[in-house]
Amino acid sequence: MDFGTDPQVEDLRAEARAFVGQHLTADVVARVRESGNYHDAEFHRALAGKGWIGAHWPVEEGGRGWPRSHSDVVYEELAAAGAPVEGWIITQIIGEAIRREGSPEMKERMLPAVTRGEVLFALGYSEPGSGSDLASVQTKAVPDGDGWIINGQKIFTTMGSEADHIFLLARTEPDLPKHAGLTLFLVPTDAPGFEASGLFTLSGQRTNVTHYADIRIDDSARIGERGRGWEIVNVALAFERGGEFAAQLRRLVNAAIGWGRAAGRDADPRFLARLGRAQAQTRVARLLGAYASWSRAAPGAGAVEGTIAKVFGTEALQDASRSLLEATGADGLVDIGTVGATAAAEMQHLYRESQIATIYGGTSEVLKTVIAQQRLALPRPRNR
Ligand SMILES: Cc1cc2nc3c(=O)[nH]c(=O)nc-3n(C[C@H](O)[C@H](O)[C@H](O)COP(=O)(O)OP(=O)(O)OC[C@H]3O[C@@H](n4cnc5c(N)ncnc54)[C@H](O)[C@@H]3O)c2cc1C
Repeated sequence: MDFGTDPQVEDLRAEARAFVGQHLTADVVARVRESGNYHDAEFHRALAGKGWIGAHWPVEEGGRGWPRSHSDVVYEELAAAGAPVEGWIITQIIGEAIRREGSPEMKERMLPAVTRGEVLFALGYSEPGSGSDLASVQTKAVPDGDGWIINGQKIFTTMGSEADHIFLLARTEPDLPKHAGLTLFLVPTDAPGFEASGLFTLSGQRTNVTHYADIRIDDSARIGERGRGWEIVNVALAFERGGEFAAQLRRLVNAAIGWGRAAGRDADPRFLARLGRAQAQTRVARLLGAYASWSRAAPGAGAVEGTIAKVFGTEALQDASRSLLEATGADGLVDIGTVGATAAAEMQHLYRESQIATIYGGTSEVLKTVIAQQRLALPRPRNR
């Protein structure tokens, strides 16, 4: 892989920064803070207007045929500025699964609509009793004529209140071993029997408990063959984990530099030592992210590189935000958006976010086991 700077990429970076300047308005920030959804309909439409949603998908699927690395650069600039990109990213992850496993009819119906910014998806995997042990999900899909009846409950369905469809992992074969009896569906959120109730994290982000009561869906809502849900989830996971936390680290370092200057601490060696360490972590996270992005483009998409980048990036964000926030003293106690807030408020917000980043998309403990097995070829732990 080539780590050199490509002038085309640098132009794209500049374009993404200009886009942030134009579209990440005070109104957008206020709406996001109010709803807790890291998504804004107007901002999302502007992204679609630029052709940045699914830009790396083939032209015949509504994309622009970009290299994946170009989409990653746009993402990095937007996320480093704190733009609301969750709806974009989650929808794209599910779009990847539809591209690979959806029927021709579903691809035609969904993918161009996604790139036009008209359709949003949410991931409906986790349940109150099934997170790390995802294959144990209990939500049921029972055949009913030419369709299915869905009953169950999901938790942490991020974007579940905004999405048009939930990418739902359901048990269709209760008598088969747990990994073999799962199937994926796109469940429309306007179907009678669907409900989303808010669940707010330590950083004020909204995720949801979603309920499915006797929801009837057509068989055309099924993604992939019956019983292949587990394999398809693993394809989607390969696209979920990656180098996105380098952008959060950049956001943190920029906030810390701003705070250091304003507080007259920019020549304080103790503060600079913390800043230097955070900057080094940012560079490593960025390189691991670039490596994950590059390996994803290869046939048989390398999930483990994204997993490595996710574990390092989230652990580094936790470490760096704690260390830098400690240096801000009382300034770090003031919440973002309140009177007297300095750049330390942004650091405090990122510190809160970092506490959950090591949980969603797979916890660090579980992902380290994945890396041990898939990259280091170590044996499976005895309790699994
Ligand atoms: C903010 C947020 C957003 C989320 N968004 C989504 C979403 O959009 N869609 C979705 O489906 N899910 C989502 N999740 C769910 C997330 O994927 C799960 O929370 C995560 O996989 C952990 O599952 P759990 O919460 O059930 O914890 P558990 O699996 O019960 O884990 C509890 C603890 O035990 C440890 N542990 C469990 N098993 C092992 C093991 N085998 N070895 C070592 N340690 C282990 C874990 O590391 C953890 O520390 C989100 C979660 C959060 C917090």
